[in-house]
Amino acid sequence: MSARTSRRVALVTGAGSGIGASIAAGLGAAGWTVAGIDLHPAPDTALALMLAADVADADAVRTAVSRVEAELGPIDALVSAAGHYAITPVAEITHEQWTRMLRVHLGGLVNSARAVLPSMVERGGGSIVAISSELAIGGGEGEAHYAAAKGAAIGLVRSLAAEFGSRGVRVNAVAPGPTDTPLLAADSPWRAPEYLATLPARRLGRPDEVAAVVQFLLEEGTFCTGEVLSPNCGAVI
Ligand code: NAD
Repeated sequence: MSARTSRRVALVTGAGSGIGASIAAGLGAAGWTVAGIDLHPAPDTALALMLAADVADADAVRTAVSRVEAELGPIDALVSAAGHYAITPVAEITHEQWTRMLRVHLGGLVNSARAVLPSMVERGGGSIVAISSELAIGGGEGEAHYAAAKGAAIGLVRSLAAEFGSRGVRVNAVAPGPTDTPLLAADSPWRAPEYLATLPARRLGRPDEVAAVVQFLLEEGTFCTGEVLSPNCGAVI
C-alpha cells in the first residue's frame, strides 16, 4: 500500500486558527494526513494542504474538496469548525448579519458535508464532526443568530446521522463552552473573572481539550452517531 493510501485523510474547515487549528494539529500528530480550508489560511501551516475558501460558498467548497481528494486521496473524516461570532441584541441584528451567520454555520456544514458524502458513501464509511456550541443547547442573551445557527447545525447533524448511518457514515456534533481562542475578544464577557467564577471549572476550555473530544469521536467513538458532546467546563449542566 502506498503512503498516500495507507494514511487516513481528514479535512478540517476553519483550520487556520483556534479550535480548528488545534484539531488539525492533533490529527496530524496522530498520523492523519490533514487538509484545511479557511477564509484566512495561515501561511506557515504544517498541514498537507491548506486551501483558501469561504465555507458559505458551495462551489468553492466543492472545488476545494475535489483538490484534496485529487492530491491526498479520499476523505475519511470531515470536521466543520469554520465560524465567526458576535454579540448583538436581537432587535439590532441586521438581515445581512442573520443571513451571514446562517450561511457560514449551517450553510458551511451543509456545503462541506454534501461535498464529502458521495465519496464516503461510495467507499462505505466516513465520519463527520460539526463544531456547534453550548449556546445551541442553553441559549444566550444577545446571541440569537449565533445560537440559532449553531442549533440548526445540531438538527442537521442528527438528520445526516439518521440518513447515512446505514451506509457507514457517522455524524456527530461537539458543542464547546467558552474556549480560549481569538474568537473571544480580550474584553469579551466570557473572559470576565466574574463570569468565570460562576463556572464549576472556574476557567475557559482550551482548544486542545475540544480537539481531544473531536478526535475521540473520529477514532474511538465508533458507537456514537447523532450524538452531541458538550465539553463546556460546566457552563451548561
Ligand atoms: P477562531 O476565530 O480562532 O477560528 C475560526 C476560524 O474559522 C478562523 O481561522 C477563520 O478564518 C475561519 N473562518 C471563519 N469564517 C469562515 C468562513 N466563512 N469560511 C472559511 N473559514 C472561516 O475561532 P474558534 O474559537 O476556534 O472557533 C471555531 C469554531 O468553534 C467556530 O465554529 C465557533 O463558532 C465554535 N465555537 C467556539 C467557541 C469559543 O468560545 N471559542 C465556543 C463554542 C463554539
